[in-house]
Amino acid sequence: MADNAKTPTDAPPVAGRQIDKPALLAKYQAERDKRLRPDGNAQYLRVSGHLAHYLEDPYTPRVERAPKTDHVTFAFVGGGFAGLVTGARLVEAGVKDVRIIEKAGDFGGTWYWNRYPGAQCDTASMVYMPLLEETGHRPSEKYAHAPEILEQCRRIGRQFGLYENAVFHTEVESIVWDEAEARWVICTNRGDRFTASYIGLGTGPLHVPKLPGISGIESFKGHSFHTSRWDYDYTGGDPGGAPLAKLADKRVAIIGTGATAVQCVPHLAKACGELYVFQRTPSSVDVRANVPIDADWFASIATPGWQQRWLENFTANQGGFAEEDLVQDGWTDLSRRVRAKLQQMPHDRRSPKDLWAAFEDADFEKMEEIRARVDSIVQDRETAQKLKAWYRQLCKRPCFHDSYLQAFNTPGAHLVDTDGQGVERITEKGLVVGGREYEVDCIIYASGFEVGTSYERRSGFDLVGRDGLRLSEAWAEGMQSKHGIHVHGFPNAFFVQPTQGANLISNVPHNLTEAGRTIATVIRHALDNGAKEVEVTKEAQDEWVALLLTGMGRMIGSPDCTPGYYNNEGQDPGPAARLNVGYPAGAAAYFRYLDGWRNDGKFEGLAFR
Ligand code: NDP
Repeated sequence: MADNAKTPTDAPPVAGRQIDKPALLAKYQAERDKRLRPDGNAQYLRVSGHLAHYLEDPYTPRVERAPKTDHVTFAFVGGGFAGLVTGARLVEAGVKDVRIIEKAGDFGGTWYWNRYPGAQCDTASMVYMPLLEETGHRPSEKYAHAPEILEQCRRIGRQFGLYENAVFHTEVESIVWDEAEARWVICTNRGDRFTASYIGLGTGPLHVPKLPGISGIESFKGHSFHTSRWDYDYTGGDPGGAPLAKLADKRVAIIGTGATAVQCVPHLAKACGELYVFQRTPSSVDVRANVPIDADWFASIATPGWQQRWLENFTANQGGFAEEDLVQDGWTDLSRRVRAKLQQMPHDRRSPKDLWAAFEDADFEKMEEIRARVDSIVQDRETAQKLKAWYRQLCKRPCFHDSYLQAFNTPGAHLVDTDGQGVERITEKGLVVGGREYEVDCIIYASGFEVGTSYERRSGFDLVGRDGLRLSEAWAEGMQSKHGIHVHGFPNAFFVQPTQGANLISNVPHNLTEAGRTIATVIRHALDNGAKEVEVTKEAQDEWVALLLTGMGRMIGSPDCTPGYYNNEGQDPGPAARLNVGYPAGAAAYFRYLDGWRNDGKFEGLAFR
């Protein structure tokens, strides 16, 4: 931090000292500028062609089956949380023939693929794991580990009979609206050509792995894999936490220090002969404080409607105005701090500028604490300095872990900081940074997933609606929808994702469960009234989009932030991105509004024919 800036008198104290706000901002800016690069998203390699082996499913063998040529009432693309919660609500609403189409070998979505050691949810299980009350499952920990979450997905699949009709290891190639028959025609890479009265799309925002565009990546002669296709045959161990015993004599590199690396590095540090963690930008790593969930305590709170109450409470806390905080974690901590500051302010001083100042002060304090935590844990001073994150907490995905920083105290675990520039080159034998070659036996890519690319590129097909209208055309100027669910020109189609709805990023499943419930209610209404088609009117869609644009814009994605997928790698995302927003009054208000909308029976904005 620059030490020549004057300390402003209104700077907040942290552990008894003042924060030098201008100096901190200057440091944030300098660190950001160092990382800006002209190629933005284009720096990453698409995993296809000769790199396609990085996508192979290491977990489930592919089973041959006859192509489907039948008709189902509802077909859903994606067997993750979105498909499972929508499918469950449809079954409850009396729609028994729901077919989930899934490219993986089982249900689970992100939790099917991400079985790397240490994977666990970062949002408290009580609100993160869907349909806990319906399935009667008590999470074993405040933050459940991946195998338990995957099992919850399977449990939902079994309980609601979703396995019977599902097709796995199947990728959609096209979905086209058949105007004459008022139904969708679905073709897949398994030769299927079946029809559905309704379709749902829950393809997930982060499911296409990406590789860093480091020159020479293809020349490496050792072993390599992406974290979302963990090779336990090579490493030993298992997703349940068994030691990665086969790495004892191996030199391993991991590229990336995002949320995935933060969770698996402690396991690698324990197991590898030598571990090199290649860092471009440090993550902010706050306290995790995971604890087992006590059966008696759970029984005392799990009274009817408990999960909905917890969901609503967590979401209300994100808005900063709840009386009580049931979850008490890192996500609600920042809100609690902002709220405390607001309460100290006189009512007539709560202008948007004051609110922003309160938010900024809370953020400075939080990040100073997170940096101080690095010093208190990491023994080597130079390593500690390099592990400090110099940006606002929501510039990048906040991380929480109680053994990531500690891992750098393990003999044999080395941080290779690239000073914001990334790995220079990959050779036959290893990786080059700062002119030094690090020879390794294995490279693990913790390099994340495609985000800034188009919807149709990530889903693998371009939906064709009424009059041959393609989704890519309908959304050429940005997303257009009502509630993020209904899109004009695409009758009987439903999108299950957060944008243009609540846009609640801290607990994505809450967006999905509410969408699933809404879709089931709409379909039930259509079936009860003999309607063959349901579609949002153009006027209703335009009105909704206009309402969204009255809001404050996006909470995350500031161009001032250090580059990352939250802000399109620091590049102007273009005018379309201003539509990637949520309900102006916030997530809690949106869910209240949506509940009223679906329960008053009018379904305002939808045309049933
Ligand atoms: P991220 O995209 O967050 O991280 C990718 C990492 O790779 C970054 O550290 C990035 O650096 C680094 N990188 C990219 N290119 C290079 C290069 N050329 N040289 C060196 N490093 C490079 O991916 P993750 O898989 O970690 O996480 C993706 C998202 O998945 C998370 O943000 C989160 O939303 C979700 N997730 C959720 C979890 C949970 O809830 N428990 C657990 C794990 C993931 P830089 O930062 O500089 O770009």
